[in-house]
Formats: sequence, structure tokens, C-alpha cells
Amino acid sequence: MPQTKILLDESDIPKHWYNVVADMPNPPTPPLGPDGKPIGPEALTPIFPMALIEQEVSAERWIPIPEPVREALRMYRPSPLFRAHRLEAMLGTPAKIYYKYEGVSPAGSHKVNTAIPQAYFNQQAGIKRLSTETGAGQWGSSIALAGQMFGLEVRVYMVRVSYDQKPFRRSMIQTWGGEVFASPSMQTQTGRDVLAKDPNNPGSLGMAISEAVEEAASRADTNYALGSVLNHVLLHQTIIGLEAKKQFEKAGDYPDMVFAPCGGGSNFGGVAFPFFADKAAGKNVRLVAVEPASCPTLTKGTYAYDFGDTAGFTPLMKMYTLGSNFMPPSIHAGGLRYHGDSPLVSQLYHEKLIEAVAVPQLATFEAGVQFARAEGIIPAPESNHAIRACIDEALRCKQSGEKKTLFFNLSGHGHFDMAAYDKYFAGELDDHSYPEELLSASLANLPKVG
Ligand SMILES: *Cc1c(COP(=O)(O)O)cnc(C)c1O
Repeated sequence: MPQTKILLDESDIPKHWYNVVADMPNPPTPPLGPDGKPIGPEALTPIFPMALIEQEVSAERWIPIPEPVREALRMYRPSPLFRAHRLEAMLGTPAKIYYKYEGVSPAGSHKVNTAIPQAYFNQQAGIKRLSTETGAGQWGSSIALAGQMFGLEVRVYMVRVSYDQKPFRRSMIQTWGGEVFASPSMQTQTGRDVLAKDPNNPGSLGMAISEAVEEAASRADTNYALGSVLNHVLLHQTIIGLEAKKQFEKAGDYPDMVFAPCGGGSNFGGVAFPFFADKAAGKNVRLVAVEPASCPTLTKGTYAYDFGDTAGFTPLMKMYTLGSNFMPPSIHAGGLRYHGDSPLVSQLYHEKLIEAVAVPQLATFEAGVQFARAEGIIPAPESNHAIRACIDEALRCKQSGEKKTLFFNLSGHGHFDMAAYDKYFAGELDDHSYPEELLSASLANLPKVG
């Protein structure tokens, strides 16, 4: 009987992060300033430490992981790779299914993998406080934990709807010593302006980013931290794919297809980029980003320069976007409700080197429940997207008789998302498709550059 859990030793935690830029056929597109010209590293120093800025623009293939970061990661890494024997049997598929489980981190998702190095490099630079935004709370709780580990104060702007609907992640942020405000808030000019016009504004990720950036830019002791999208965040997450490759080697197998849910792209980049290195070297492996049909950034968005936030404080990044004012429907995979996507993931998708599919909400919960009944773990609603796409492929293998090896990233557990499962069981969840008119209105407002 082949192993169910493929485990590594703590000494197997990678000593370097993998930078996909080294294997991309074309150099990444530069971020632009308000004048439409590429920005230099100095434009980012008010909000990021130099070590992270250097990682953001690096083209080196391997970037060393400092020993104190590896030490902190030992709290929960290496994460297990599972062979989904029971799910395979339930589906009756000849395909082999594997998943890497990132829900073993204390905050319950992959986001701690970048929260730890971000807190470390800020502490090394003498920074005392971090400001950030969070949607459903996975990022806010991860950075609160990492701030606690490295002695930094953390302030989190949490999107109003989630603040009200997901009180337990708010409590987690506070348990780890973080301070949390509902966004839009009275703490920033951005928030005050929004509330003056609309006191009941439910907030959005783009708006909360504006608040966090405004605060970091206006205080010397405070930097900003982002949980996805940026190159250095994807870099830190490659620890997932690097471990997975060792685990596949141990299992004597190799994936034909890799799936990950895709919001801002960090867990997809994290699991898929180390396999992209093999693809660039000629290996046949398909890398599939899975997004919600209601926020279909890669599959229905436009590849263009756009802001990362609503107020336009961030540099312009070339990415697939639905427009920085796009308000996605309130689906339960809050971590996938971002208007844009990582510029690296966007460029690889544009060059047809990776793939993307969009899946509707109800089908993702159906897949998540089937997975939980077979494998035990209750997945985060975001992770259910990858599970849906992987099960669909396993069922195609059942039709064709192909014995493919399928692999997905189980980015987090759903223990704090049970209200969403309740709604699913009560028949109260919908398949919002993306609102066409809203989308064309939002895309008509893209900034004019180039
Ligand atoms: C944030 C989150 C995602 C989305 O990750 P991105 O890196 O933004 O694509 C997926 N799954 C879980 C559990 C998350 O918390």
C-alpha cells in the first residue's frame, strides 16, 4: 500500500526561495508611477524595507531564506503531502490525486508562509509597526501572529462586511496582539471621505488597501504588508512547491497537472512556480489557476496597467484586472474577491504558459463537501475551487481511463467558514455569475497609460 502522508524532516525546509523570473521567457513588466514612467526602488521605501524591495525586483533564481525565518517556519513546516486514496475510491477514478495541506499553519492557511519573512525583514530594518488590510481575515490573522513572533505592532483594516460576518478571525487577530478596525474607518482620510458620502459602505479589499497604505506612508515607524499579488509574496510562497517536489520524489511520482485556487495569485504561484522551472526545462506539466466565476480576473478580465487599490495610491501594475472599482458579489471565498492578479501570474497566463478556469460557487461547495466526506479535512471555501477543478479532471480520467497524476494545493481549512457551509446546506447560496454591466463600467475606467 503506498503512503497516505508523505512527510519531510524539519531539515528539509528549503534554504532558498525560488524566483520564477529567472525562468520566464520575457522579463517582467515594470510597475509604473503616476506619470506613467517605470518607478525605481526608492518609490517603495516609504512603505517597504529594502530587503523586500530587492526581492521584488530580483532576477536571481535562488534567494536565501534567513535562518531565523526557517526557525520560525518550523512551528508548522514542512507541511504534509497527502495521497487522496479515499477520494480516488469515492470517485472511482484511475487518476492518482495528491494534495499539499497548508491548513496546518496556526492561522489555518498558507498566508503565514509570507507573513513570517515579511515581519522578519521589517524588524531587521528597525520598523516597529505594520499596517495591512484583510478581507475574510486569513491574512490579517497571519500577519498578527508573525508580528507577535518578531515583536512588531500590527494594525489591520478589515473589510466591513467580513468584520461583521466573520467575527472569529477578528478575535484571532486580537488574540495574537493585533489591532483591528472595520474598513472604511475613521482612522484615515480615505476612510473618512468614503464614510462622509456613504456611512453604510460595506468596504472592499481595494478600499482597505488604500487605508493601510495611507497610514504606512504617513508614519516613519510603520510599514505596509501585503498578503498576495506582489513578486516577493509569491517568492516566499514557493516554499510550498519546493517541499512538494521533494515529497513527490519521495513518493516516486510526479504530477501531470497542478491546481490551486487563485485570488491574488500567491498560493498558485507558490505551489506552481517550482514546477514551472521543470516546465521551462522541457518537462510536460500543466499548471492551472482556479478562480470564481463571479470574480473571473484571468478568464474574463483585461490585461492592462491598473491600480492595486481603489484610491490609486499603489503603483500601476500590468495585470489581468476587472477594474480597481469592481465590486465583486459577496461570495464566501472572500480570499478570491480581488479585482486584480499577480503581475507574474498574469504575464505567464498572457504568454499561454499556464492555464486558468473559472468555477461557480455551488459546484465548489459540492466538491468541498465530497472532499471532506472522503478525506476528513474541511476545506476553506477558497480551496474548494481547486478541489472542484481537480475532481472534474479526475472524472474526465474516469471517462477516458487515463491514469493521470493530479495535484492540488489545499490552501487552508474551513473551520472559521462554517457559516458559509451552513448556508450551502440550507440552500441559501447562489451562483452569481459576474455582473456584465458592472464589469464593463469598471473596465471603461481603467487608467490610460502607454
Ligand atoms: C487568501 C487565500 C487564498 C487566495 O490566495 P491568493 O494567494 O490571494 O490567490 C486561497 N485560499 C485560502 C485559504 C486563503 O486564505
